[in-house]
Amino acid sequence: MADDYSKLVAAQGGLCLICGAHHPDDQEEAWPVVTDPKQPDKCWGVLCEQCYAGLVGFRFNLGWLDNAAHYLWHKTKAYRRP
Ligand SMILES: [Zn+2]
Repeated sequence: MADDYSKLVAAQGGLCLICGAHHPDDQEEAWPVVTDPKQPDKCWGVLCEQCYAGLVGFRFNLGWLDNAAHYLWHKTKAYRRP
């Protein structure tokens, strides 16, 4: 299992595919393995804890994630650089 996990991390260049965080070298299996919610035997790779928690928080609902991005976009407009 550790070998499979290492291969998943290596296939992603050791990075979280959402935020770009580096997988800690000194911690084996530090990040959750992400599987397709509708096909649990289909593995998507690994994500850092925070990004995985975000997806779980939005229940893997693409529409809600999109709404959240738009919400943040509008709410932070005042202090974002052009
Ligand atoms: Zn991340």
